[in-house]
Amino acid sequence: MRAFILVVTALAAAGCAGAGDSPRTDGGPADLIVTGPVYTVDAARSWASAVAVRDGRIVYVGSDSVPDSLIGAATERLDASGGMVLPGFQDGHIHLISGGVELGECTLFTLETSAEIADSIRRCAAARPDAPWVRGAGWELPAFPSANPSKTLLDRVVPDRPAWFEAADGHSGWANTRALALARITRDTPDPADGRIERDPRTGEPTGTLRESAMSLVSELLPERTDAELGAGLRRAQQLANRHGITSAMEAAASESYLHTYAAADRAGELTVRVVSAIEVEPDSSGLDRLVDRIGRWRIEYATPRHRPIATKIFEDGVIESRTAALLAPYLDRGSHAGEPILAPATLDSLTSALDRAGWQIHVHAIGDRAIRLTLDAFEGARRANGRRGARHTITHLQLIDPADIPRFRALGVIANFEPLWANGDEYITGLAEPALGRGRSRWIYPIASVAKTGAVVSGGSDWSVSSLAPLDAIQVAITHRAPSERPGLPPWRPEEVVDLPTAIALYTINAAYQQHQEDETGSIEVGKLADLVILGRNLFDVPPGEIHQVKVLRTIVGGTTVYQAE
Ligand SMILES: [Zn+2]
Repeated sequence: MRAFILVVTALAAAGCAGAGDSPRTDGGPADLIVTGPVYTVDAARSWASAVAVRDGRIVYVGSDSVPDSLIGAATERLDASGGMVLPGFQDGHIHLISGGVELGECTLFTLETSAEIADSIRRCAAARPDAPWVRGAGWELPAFPSANPSKTLLDRVVPDRPAWFEAADGHSGWANTRALALARITRDTPDPADGRIERDPRTGEPTGTLRESAMSLVSELLPERTDAELGAGLRRAQQLANRHGITSAMEAAASESYLHTYAAADRAGELTVRVVSAIEVEPDSSGLDRLVDRIGRWRIEYATPRHRPIATKIFEDGVIESRTAALLAPYLDRGSHAGEPILAPATLDSLTSALDRAGWQIHVHAIGDRAIRLTLDAFEGARRANGRRGARHTITHLQLIDPADIPRFRALGVIANFEPLWANGDEYITGLAEPALGRGRSRWIYPIASVAKTGAVVSGGSDWSVSSLAPLDAIQVAITHRAPSERPGLPPWRPEEVVDLPTAIALYTINAAYQQHQEDETGSIEVGKLADLVILGRNLFDVPPGEIHQVKVLRTIVGGTTVYQAE
């Protein structure tokens, strides 16, 4: 990990000119002083014993002999001596609004069996007798044979209305017979480009599961969510995020209505998470110039102090579990099928170059080793065409990286955004991914440590609502490679790819801040930076690794204001 820490050290030092070490004692007393172990995540990874905050910024970091000039009659004092203080957590890839909207609908996340899922849908439908559609999300792929739930099961629990449920990973959908009929999906409907209608192998009849672009055959029929629903979703999501210590997040797939929702919330003074939005882009017939024009206007129109739409999002493939990720060599269980990239290489190259030239950061979903290689190639091409410009392009998910491509992240200045929570050898990996990849390739599933060792910047994300957004869950898995709930002490699933605790914390603080172009303002506890802090009930460095996910978040502070406080 040493090389990695050195590089981030250099980045942090370069990015924080102006945030000096001397206390700012000239502006009167502090609003808040917290004493206790403070893990600053500064360039030296130093510890302090107190931090003071005034007007939303950090004005003192040091020993607990806080200068008298900072202590006034109105100064709030907090004792965190039984726990620790960290920079607020930052999530480098999350779906805040859609996740929050889903929380208000039928949610199936973490249910393990098809019977539990069916039961939950039946109850949810009964509770909404007037809804024209029964809709929701979160069915876990391993709950069904071949990740392939049937319309028959859904018909049994929702016989009277169309029903539509997205999978937990968002790459498959499940429709009942009524929904399929409304979408006019029959045996004769061809698979759309980049999508698949799952069919009965004997009769050719659609079975109810739709993959990737085929999902939109049904989802485009659903009633649009209103501004009020989106706003309510954001409120739910940011409360949950704050409760888990999150103070900044990268919205991973924003539409214009999402940009509007974030900006409106901030203008109303209600946004309690700093958000960088990645606007979802797709080349269409109107041409690249018009696309760049349109999102360029959004970038200005929807920018507020806490919402910066400075990134774009491209999907380059699907997921391994449903065999839609683009691989360099075929899946072992699908003949010659190796998956296809969503954008052909030439299209990806021209889109990437155009966005890079217009000053956008680009955030690409790439899971299979071929999609990852094509994306690195596209970033390399953009750099050749437009020069180096510190764009901090990012590839997210990174499930299967060909070892030959691992050094390219550092070489090209591309950020590797992982979801460490997934690196635990669960049913998704052992039941659905490894059998399709075989032993040799499976070694390179989620190679977090290998990428970090090259000196590339590695950041963490949750992909919530795909999986838990709790950074402490992910930090625990990053250092144990075991699911949070598993019996402590089991050997790590992939010992070579385990990282140490300082690295895991950096993924969710300074490195995710770097990804969001805000490491000079957030991501560490240093004088002059914004006071985004989290106070934990225990010191992570003293807790057995298997208990990290149980550590309580006591308080979350954004810009000096407490946005969450434990009972
Ligand atoms: Zn995502």
